[in-house]
Amino acid sequence: MAEKQEKLVIRHIGRILSGKLEEPLLDGDCVIAVNGVITHVGYERDLDTDNAEVVVDAADTWLAPGLIDSHVHPVIGDYTPRQQQIHWIDSCLHGGVTTMISAGEVHLPGRPKDIVGLKAMAIASQRWYENFRPSGVKMHAGAPILEEGMEEQDFKDLADAGVKLLGEVGLGTVKAGETAAQMVKWARKYGIQSTIHTGGPSIPGSGLIDKDIVLEADADIIGHINGGHTALPDDQIMCLCESCSRGIEIVHNGNERAGLLAMRTAFEIDQSERVILGTDSPAGSGVQPLGILRMIALLSSLGNVPAEIAFCFATGNTARMRELDTGIIEPGFSADFVILDQAQHSPGADMLESIQQGNLPGIGMTIIDGKVTSHRSRNTPPADRLPSIVG
Ligand SMILES: [Zn+2]
Repeated sequence: MAEKQEKLVIRHIGRILSGKLEEPLLDGDCVIAVNGVITHVGYERDLDTDNAEVVVDAADTWLAPGLIDSHVHPVIGDYTPRQQQIHWIDSCLHGGVTTMISAGEVHLPGRPKDIVGLKAMAIASQRWYENFRPSGVKMHAGAPILEEGMEEQDFKDLADAGVKLLGEVGLGTVKAGETAAQMVKWARKYGIQSTIHTGGPSIPGSGLIDKDIVLEADADIIGHINGGHTALPDDQIMCLCESCSRGIEIVHNGNERAGLLAMRTAFEIDQSERVILGTDSPAGSGVQPLGILRMIALLSSLGNVPAEIAFCFATGNTARMRELDTGIIEPGFSADFVILDQAQHSPGADMLESIQQGNLPGIGMTIIDGKVTSHRSRNTPPADRLPSIVG
């Protein structure tokens, strides 16, 4: 007996943002997903839309991949002790974010710093977010903070237990380039991705990581290249972009001017595919439910980048740098979407123009793995046209 197929049809799409830099806008008015995976992108008249469990009418608005926040600091469930907030992840879903990547669960009160303790915590964090998705958001967590004394076997143990990420290198006792480089290599050998803290200390107790340490450590992602919040001097930021091929991560809770510099440098060296976005929240600067949208609007408006390109920084670029099966609208990718439109009374001929003028769009719906996870956002400015479930 064939397994039951769960089919989702999204019709009456105005335009599609693909998430792919090489073709950021797609033709078509209809997307179909089966069992949470995109199967067709095209025109409704050419597609088989029968027998769908759920039909969404996009009301002639925009379909984009669900946004990815490349840099968050979750702890447990939908609660952060950093600012004593609950439901912060749900609030970010209302800002269009459907996937988050932990840069370390550093805010846990009493976080273990001994090696067996930090390994146990990373494995437990990986599990509790795998077993429980707050409001449906895909949280990739369980990102241990490196401490002095870790050995190759520790990385193998972590990988064997399902850990796939390192927390920001530099937040623990490992701050020297040589030690960091060795541990990043061990992590990579066992399939664990790495991110490094870049710039001045974030809070009392953390330290400076300058360009020499970043380059020597050679982590997969140059975490918050624009500082978290204190950025490196301009010449060091440009040097980081020019001297390696790692991810250029720009965050909301960083230095905006330095973020624009990093993005412009990436374009100058023709490597904009390395630019990815995060919020670095929760942090001292708080939680930004609209942080990724705000980054898109900031980089597009002040950085003179077409909005459809800025969307790629928060979707397909991150997916590719981090090897995720989401962030791109194409058959085979996860059916994670945000349906959005130009905010009421915002200037510009359409949504992209209004974003290029620095305004945020209005979110009408989010979908994760082919299932509707939220309706009209309680956090974005409202759009006139709203998607709805019609069948
Ligand atoms: Zn950091």
